Amino acid sequence: MVSRCANPGCAAPFLYLHQGKLFRMESEARFVSTTPASTDPDSKKPARRVEYFWLCRDCAAEMTLVFKKGVGVTTKSLAPAQPAAS
Ligand SMILES: [Zn+2]
Repeated sequence: MVSRCANPGCAAPFLYLHQGKLFRMESEARFVSTTPASTDPDSKKPARRVEYFWLCRDCAAEMTLVFKKGVGVTTKSLAPAQPAAS
């Protein structure tokens, strides 16, 4: 469960739901065969993990959370990106 702000550079504790922003992230965990003898048809589906992340009010005003494949959940600045030079 969420215990503190998802921004690695911030240590704000998760105290109040109405402060900041709560994110619900669904990630597909890669299915790993552990039991070759298993014939459970459901075992072929990738397991879907749902995780919750929270950004404190200050961080939510400046950034959001995105899910990057292979990386996991990371922060993303809300500031508009610099226009491409070309
Ligand atoms: Zn924060």
